[in-house]
Amino acid sequence: MQAEGAPTAMHYAEPETLAEALSALSAEGARCLAGGQSLVAMMNAGLLAPPVLVSLRRVPGLDAVEPREDGGLRLGAMARHFEVARLQPRSGGAEIVVEAARRIGHPAIRNQGTIGGSIAHADPAADYPTAITCAEAVVQVAGPQGARAIPAADFFHGYYETACAPDEIVIGIEVPPGPPGARAHYEKLMIVDGDFAVVSVAVMLAMERGACSFVRLAIGAVAATPLRLADAEAALLGTALDDATLARAGALLAEAADPVDDMRGSAAFRRKLIPRLLRRAVAEARAKAEAAHA
Ligand SMILES: Cc1cc2nc3c(=O)[nH]c(=O)nc-3n(C[C@H](O)[C@H](O)[C@H](O)COP(=O)(O)OP(=O)(O)OC[C@H]3O[C@@H](n4cnc5c(N)ncnc54)[C@H](O)[C@@H]3O)c2cc1C
Repeated sequence: MQAEGAPTAMHYAEPETLAEALSALSAEGARCLAGGQSLVAMMNAGLLAPPVLVSLRRVPGLDAVEPREDGGLRLGAMARHFEVARLQPRSGGAEIVVEAARRIGHPAIRNQGTIGGSIAHADPAADYPTAITCAEAVVQVAGPQGARAIPAADFFHGYYETACAPDEIVIGIEVPPGPPGARAHYEKLMIVDGDFAVVSVAVMLAMERGACSFVRLAIGAVAATPLRLADAEAALLGTALDDATLARAGALLAEAADPVDDMRGSAAFRRKLIPRLLRRAVAEARAKAEAAHA
Protein backbone atom coordinates (compact mmCIF):
# COMPACT_ATOMS: atom_id res chain seq x y z
CA MET A 1 0.00 0.00 0.00
CA GLN A 2 1.29 3.42 -0.87
CA ALA A 3 1.87 5.87 1.99
CA GLU A 4 -0.15 9.06 1.97
CA GLY A 5 1.81 11.94 0.40
CA ALA A 6 4.33 9.56 -1.20
CA PRO A 7 5.28 10.45 -4.76
CA THR A 8 3.28 8.60 -7.40
CA ALA A 9 4.99 6.94 -10.36
CA MET A 10 5.49 9.04 -13.46
CA HIS A 11 5.57 7.49 -16.89
CA TYR A 12 8.17 8.84 -19.34
CA ALA A 13 7.45 8.32 -23.04
CA GLU A 14 9.90 8.94 -25.86
CA PRO A 15 7.77 8.53 -29.00
CA GLU A 16 9.41 8.34 -32.41
CA THR A 17 6.52 9.61 -34.50
CA LEU A 18 4.04 12.45 -34.15
CA ALA A 19 1.17 9.94 -34.08
CA GLU A 20 2.80 8.11 -31.15
CA ALA A 21 3.40 11.40 -29.37
CA LEU A 22 -0.26 12.39 -29.76
CA SER A 23 -1.35 8.98 -28.53
CA ALA A 24 0.87 9.26 -25.42
CA LEU A 25 -0.40 12.81 -24.83
CA SER A 26 -4.01 11.61 -24.79
CA ALA A 27 -3.47 10.21 -21.28
CA GLU A 28 -5.13 12.29 -18.55
CA GLY A 29 -2.73 14.99 -17.26
CA ALA A 30 0.04 14.12 -19.74
CA ARG A 31 2.45 16.91 -20.71
CA CYS A 32 4.89 17.45 -23.53
CA LEU A 33 8.52 17.75 -22.50
CA ALA A 34 10.64 19.97 -24.76
CA GLY A 35 13.72 21.69 -23.29
CA GLY A 36 12.40 21.17 -19.76
CA GLN A 37 13.55 24.64 -18.70
CA SER A 38 10.12 25.70 -17.45
CA LEU A 39 8.38 22.37 -16.99
CA VAL A 40 11.07 20.75 -14.83
CA ALA A 41 11.42 23.94 -12.79
CA MET A 42 7.67 23.83 -12.08
CA MET A 43 7.88 20.14 -11.17
CA ASN A 44 10.83 20.81 -8.87
CA ALA A 45 8.83 23.58 -7.20
CA GLY A 46 5.94 21.15 -6.63
CA LEU A 47 3.60 23.13 -8.88
CA LEU A 48 3.03 20.28 -11.32
CA ALA A 49 3.24 16.49 -11.15
CA PRO A 50 2.29 15.19 -14.59
CA PRO A 51 1.59 11.43 -14.54
CA VAL A 52 2.98 11.15 -18.08
CA LEU A 53 5.81 13.11 -19.68
CA VAL A 54 5.93 12.94 -23.47
CA SER A 55 9.39 13.87 -24.69
CA LEU A 56 9.35 15.43 -28.16
CA ARG A 57 13.06 15.05 -28.80
CA ARG A 58 12.82 11.95 -31.03
CA VAL A 59 9.83 13.09 -33.07
CA PRO A 60 11.17 13.73 -36.57
CA GLY A 61 10.77 17.10 -38.26
CA LEU A 62 10.23 19.19 -35.12
CA ASP A 63 13.79 20.52 -35.13
CA ALA A 64 13.59 22.46 -38.41
CA VAL A 65 15.34 25.83 -38.53
CA GLU A 66 14.89 26.89 -42.13
CA PRO A 67 15.06 30.25 -43.83
CA ARG A 68 12.14 30.47 -46.30
CA GLU A 69 12.64 31.56 -49.88
CA ASP A 70 10.63 34.73 -49.23
CA GLY A 71 13.00 35.75 -46.40
CA GLY A 72 10.78 34.46 -43.60
CA LEU A 73 11.50 31.51 -41.33
CA ARG A 74 10.13 28.03 -40.82
CA LEU A 75 10.86 26.92 -37.27
CA GLY A 76 10.06 23.51 -35.82
CA ALA A 77 8.72 23.53 -32.27
CA MET A 78 11.93 21.90 -31.00
CA ALA A 79 14.19 24.57 -32.54
CA ARG A 80 16.36 25.63 -29.66
CA HIS A 81 16.86 29.28 -28.84
CA PHE A 82 20.59 29.28 -29.73
CA GLU A 83 19.85 27.84 -33.18
CA VAL A 84 17.45 30.69 -33.94
CA ALA A 85 19.75 33.27 -32.34
CA ARG A 86 22.61 32.44 -34.71
CA LEU A 87 20.57 32.92 -37.90
CA GLN A 88 21.31 35.88 -40.15
CA PRO A 89 17.84 37.28 -40.83
CA ARG A 90 16.93 38.42 -44.35
CA SER A 91 13.67 40.20 -43.55
CA GLY A 92 12.01 42.29 -40.86
CA GLY A 93 9.88 39.33 -39.79
CA ALA A 94 12.88 37.06 -39.36
CA GLU A 95 14.86 39.86 -37.70
CA ILE A 96 12.39 40.41 -34.87
CA VAL A 97 12.26 36.70 -34.02
CA VAL A 98 16.04 36.26 -34.22
CA GLU A 99 16.68 39.35 -32.08
CA ALA A 100 14.24 38.08 -29.45
CA ALA A 101 15.99 34.68 -29.40
CA ARG A 102 19.32 36.44 -28.77
CA ARG A 103 17.86 38.17 -25.69
CA ILE A 104 16.47 35.04 -24.00
CA GLY A 105 18.10 34.15 -20.69
CA HIS A 106 21.75 33.18 -20.85
CA PRO A 107 23.64 30.55 -22.90
CA ALA A 108 22.59 27.56 -20.78
CA ILE A 109 18.93 28.49 -21.23
CA ARG A 110 19.35 29.16 -24.94
CA ASN A 111 21.07 25.78 -25.39
CA GLN A 112 18.12 23.84 -23.95
CA GLY A 113 14.98 25.93 -24.37
CA THR A 114 12.82 25.58 -27.48
CA ILE A 115 10.52 27.97 -29.28
CA GLY A 116 7.62 25.51 -29.04
CA GLY A 117 8.11 25.20 -25.28
CA SER A 118 8.37 28.93 -24.85
CA ILE A 119 5.17 29.78 -26.68
CA ALA A 120 3.23 26.81 -25.26
CA HIS A 121 4.26 27.92 -21.76
CA ALA A 122 3.04 31.45 -22.60
CA ASP A 123 4.76 33.38 -19.85
CA PRO A 124 3.72 36.98 -20.56
CA ALA A 125 7.27 38.14 -19.80
CA ALA A 126 8.86 35.70 -22.27
CA ASP A 127 10.48 37.02 -25.43
CA TYR A 128 9.15 34.86 -28.27
CA PRO A 129 5.43 35.53 -27.70
CA THR A 130 5.96 39.27 -28.17
CA ALA A 131 8.22 38.78 -31.18
CA ILE A 132 5.97 36.31 -33.03
CA THR A 133 2.98 38.57 -32.38
CA CYS A 134 4.86 41.49 -33.96
CA ALA A 135 5.90 39.26 -36.89
CA GLU A 136 2.29 38.04 -37.37
CA ALA A 137 3.65 34.51 -37.35
CA VAL A 138 1.42 31.46 -37.60
CA VAL A 139 1.61 28.65 -35.04
CA GLN A 140 1.04 25.14 -36.35
CA VAL A 141 -0.57 22.72 -33.99
CA ALA A 142 -1.32 18.99 -34.40
CA GLY A 143 -3.97 17.09 -32.48
CA PRO A 144 -6.17 14.00 -32.64
CA GLN A 145 -8.39 15.79 -35.18
CA GLY A 146 -5.48 16.76 -37.44
CA ALA A 147 -3.42 19.91 -37.90
CA ARG A 148 -4.48 23.53 -37.64
CA ALA A 149 -2.76 26.89 -38.12
CA ILE A 150 -3.32 29.58 -35.50
CA PRO A 151 -2.25 33.21 -36.07
CA ALA A 152 -0.03 34.40 -33.21
CA ALA A 153 -2.62 37.10 -32.43
CA ASP A 154 -5.12 34.34 -31.54
CA PHE A 155 -2.68 31.92 -29.91
CA PHE A 156 -2.12 33.58 -26.54
CA HIS A 157 -5.27 33.54 -24.40
CA GLY A 158 -4.06 34.65 -20.97
CA TYR A 159 -1.42 34.07 -18.29
CA TYR A 160 0.10 30.69 -19.25
CA GLU A 161 -2.94 29.95 -21.43
CA THR A 162 -2.97 29.35 -25.16
CA ALA A 163 -5.20 28.09 -27.95
CA CYS A 164 -3.25 24.80 -27.88
CA ALA A 165 -5.48 22.17 -26.20
CA PRO A 166 -3.97 19.70 -23.68
CA ASP A 167 -4.10 16.90 -26.29
CA GLU A 168 -2.43 19.02 -28.99
CA ILE A 169 1.22 19.62 -29.80
CA VAL A 170 2.76 22.79 -31.21
CA ILE A 171 4.70 21.48 -34.20
CA GLY A 172 6.08 24.64 -35.77
CA ILE A 173 6.01 28.35 -36.35
CA GLU A 174 5.87 30.04 -39.76
CA VAL A 175 7.34 33.52 -39.70
CA PRO A 176 6.41 35.66 -42.72
CA PRO A 177 8.99 38.19 -43.92
CA GLY A 178 6.93 41.38 -43.61
CA PRO A 179 6.98 43.95 -46.42
CA PRO A 180 10.11 44.68 -48.49
CA GLY A 181 12.41 47.15 -46.77
CA ALA A 182 10.93 46.54 -43.31
CA ARG A 183 13.42 46.30 -40.47
CA ALA A 184 12.90 45.39 -36.85
CA HIS A 185 14.23 45.89 -33.36
CA TYR A 186 13.55 44.04 -30.11
CA GLU A 187 14.07 46.15 -26.99
CA LYS A 188 14.06 44.51 -23.57
CA LEU A 189 14.60 45.92 -20.12
CA MET A 190 15.82 43.44 -17.49
CA ILE A 191 16.67 43.95 -13.85
CA VAL A 192 19.64 41.61 -14.18
CA ASP A 193 21.28 40.19 -17.27
CA GLY A 194 19.70 36.91 -18.43
CA ASP A 195 16.37 37.55 -16.74
CA PHE A 196 12.85 37.79 -18.14
CA ALA A 197 11.71 41.22 -19.32
CA VAL A 198 10.36 43.91 -17.05
CA VAL A 199 8.94 45.29 -20.30
CA SER A 200 9.81 44.39 -23.88
CA VAL A 201 8.96 46.13 -27.15
CA ALA A 202 9.03 44.54 -30.60
CA VAL A 203 8.89 46.93 -33.55
CA MET A 204 8.91 46.27 -37.28
CA LEU A 205 8.70 49.26 -39.61
CA ALA A 206 9.50 50.58 -43.05
CA MET A 207 10.28 54.14 -44.14
CA GLU A 208 9.58 55.82 -47.47
CA ARG A 209 10.81 59.35 -48.23
CA GLY A 210 11.14 60.16 -44.52
CA ALA A 211 7.72 58.87 -43.51
CA CYS A 212 6.73 55.63 -41.84
CA SER A 213 5.05 53.49 -44.51
CA PHE A 214 4.51 50.37 -42.41
CA VAL A 215 4.62 49.64 -38.70
CA ARG A 216 3.80 46.83 -36.30
CA LEU A 217 4.29 46.97 -32.54
CA ALA A 218 3.94 44.38 -29.80
CA ILE A 219 4.65 44.98 -26.13
CA GLY A 220 5.53 42.21 -23.66
CA ALA A 221 5.20 41.81 -19.89
CA VAL A 222 2.52 44.48 -19.57
CA ALA A 223 -0.60 42.31 -19.83
CA ALA A 224 -1.67 38.67 -19.77
CA THR A 225 -0.78 38.35 -23.45
CA PRO A 226 1.43 40.36 -25.83
CA LEU A 227 -0.18 43.75 -26.38
CA ARG A 228 -0.91 45.01 -29.89
CA LEU A 229 -2.90 48.19 -30.38
CA ALA A 230 -4.16 49.27 -33.79
CA ASP A 231 -4.58 52.89 -32.60
CA ALA A 232 -0.92 53.13 -31.58
CA GLU A 233 0.22 51.78 -34.96
CA ALA A 234 -2.18 54.14 -36.77
CA ALA A 235 -0.73 57.06 -34.80
CA LEU A 236 2.73 56.33 -36.22
CA LEU A 237 1.81 55.47 -39.80
CA GLY A 238 2.55 58.20 -42.35
CA THR A 239 4.45 60.34 -39.84
CA ALA A 240 8.15 61.17 -39.59
CA LEU A 241 8.18 59.33 -36.23
CA ASP A 242 8.93 62.60 -34.43
CA ASP A 243 9.09 62.78 -30.65
CA ALA A 244 5.55 64.11 -30.19
CA THR A 245 4.05 61.33 -32.33
CA LEU A 246 6.03 58.67 -30.51
CA ALA A 247 4.93 60.11 -27.16
CA ARG A 248 1.30 59.92 -28.32
CA ALA A 249 1.64 56.27 -29.41
CA GLY A 250 3.48 55.46 -26.18
CA ALA A 251 0.71 57.04 -24.12
CA LEU A 252 -1.95 55.02 -25.97
CA LEU A 253 -0.05 51.81 -25.30
CA ALA A 254 0.57 52.67 -21.64
CA GLU A 255 -3.16 53.32 -21.20
CA ALA A 256 -4.13 50.03 -22.87
CA ALA A 257 -1.61 48.03 -20.82
CA ASP A 258 -2.73 46.06 -17.79
CA PRO A 259 0.51 45.26 -16.00
CA VAL A 260 0.93 43.59 -12.62
CA ASP A 261 3.09 44.46 -9.63
CA ASP A 262 5.70 41.75 -9.18
CA MET A 263 9.29 41.22 -8.06
CA ARG A 264 10.59 42.79 -11.30
CA GLY A 265 8.69 46.05 -10.98
CA SER A 266 5.44 47.76 -10.15
CA ALA A 267 2.61 48.23 -12.61
CA ALA A 268 3.22 51.99 -12.50
CA PHE A 269 6.92 51.51 -13.33
CA ARG A 270 6.03 49.28 -16.27
CA ARG A 271 3.55 51.86 -17.62
CA LYS A 272 6.27 54.52 -17.42
CA LEU A 273 8.72 52.31 -19.27
CA ILE A 274 6.47 51.67 -22.28
CA PRO A 275 6.89 55.07 -24.02
CA ARG A 276 10.62 55.12 -23.28
CA LEU A 277 11.31 51.66 -24.65
CA LEU A 278 9.03 52.34 -27.60
CA ARG A 279 11.04 55.46 -28.49
CA ARG A 280 14.29 53.52 -28.27
CA ALA A 281 13.01 50.54 -30.28
CA VAL A 282 11.54 52.74 -33.03
CA ALA A 283 14.76 54.77 -33.28
CA GLU A 284 16.79 51.57 -33.74
CA ALA A 285 14.42 50.03 -36.30
CA ARG A 286 14.18 53.30 -38.18
CA ALA A 287 17.96 53.71 -38.33
CA LYS A 288 18.26 50.20 -39.77
CA ALA A 289 15.48 50.82 -42.32
CA GLU A 290 17.05 54.11 -43.44
CA ALA A 291 20.56 52.64 -43.61
CA ALA A 292 19.23 49.86 -45.83
CA HIS A 293 17.77 52.50 -48.21
CA ALA A 294 20.92 54.66 -48.30
C1 LIG B 1 16.80 30.73 -15.39
C2 LIG B 1 15.86 30.88 -16.56
C3 LIG B 1 15.86 32.08 -17.27
C4 LIG B 1 15.01 32.24 -18.36
N1 LIG B 1 15.01 33.44 -19.02
C5 LIG B 1 14.17 33.62 -20.04
C6 LIG B 1 14.13 34.86 -20.75
O1 LIG B 1 14.89 35.79 -20.49
N2 LIG B 1 13.24 34.97 -21.77
C7 LIG B 1 12.40 33.95 -22.13
O2 LIG B 1 11.61 34.14 -23.04
N3 LIG B 1 12.42 32.77 -21.49
C8 LIG B 1 13.28 32.58 -20.47
N4 LIG B 1 13.31 31.37 -19.83
C9 LIG B 1 12.39 30.30 -20.26
C10 LIG B 1 13.04 29.47 -21.36
O3 LIG B 1 13.05 30.23 -22.55
C11 LIG B 1 12.32 28.15 -21.62
O4 LIG B 1 13.07 27.53 -22.60
C12 LIG B 1 10.90 28.19 -22.12
O5 LIG B 1 10.03 28.89 -21.31
C13 LIG B 1 10.28 26.79 -22.15
O6 LIG B 1 10.82 26.09 -23.20
P1 LIG B 1 11.25 24.60 -23.01
O7 LIG B 1 11.60 24.12 -24.36
O8 LIG B 1 12.26 24.49 -21.96
O9 LIG B 1 9.83 23.93 -22.60
P2 LIG B 1 9.46 22.94 -21.41
O10 LIG B 1 9.92 23.49 -20.11
O11 LIG B 1 9.85 21.56 -21.75
O12 LIG B 1 7.87 23.05 -21.51
C14 LIG B 1 7.19 24.22 -21.08
C15 LIG B 1 5.68 23.99 -21.21
O13 LIG B 1 5.29 23.90 -22.57
C16 LIG B 1 4.73 22.61 -22.87
N5 LIG B 1 5.27 22.26 -24.18
C17 LIG B 1 6.59 22.20 -24.53
N6 LIG B 1 6.71 21.97 -25.84
C18 LIG B 1 5.46 21.88 -26.33
C19 LIG B 1 4.93 21.65 -27.63
N7 LIG B 1 5.72 21.53 -28.71
N8 LIG B 1 3.57 21.63 -27.78
C20 LIG B 1 2.76 21.79 -26.73
N9 LIG B 1 3.20 22.01 -25.47
C21 LIG B 1 4.53 22.04 -25.28
C22 LIG B 1 5.18 21.71 -21.74
O14 LIG B 1 4.27 20.64 -21.55
C23 LIG B 1 5.20 22.67 -20.58
O15 LIG B 1 3.89 22.86 -20.10
C24 LIG B 1 14.15 31.18 -18.75
C25 LIG B 1 14.15 29.96 -18.04
C26 LIG B 1 15.00 29.81 -16.97
C27 LIG B 1 14.99 28.49 -16.24
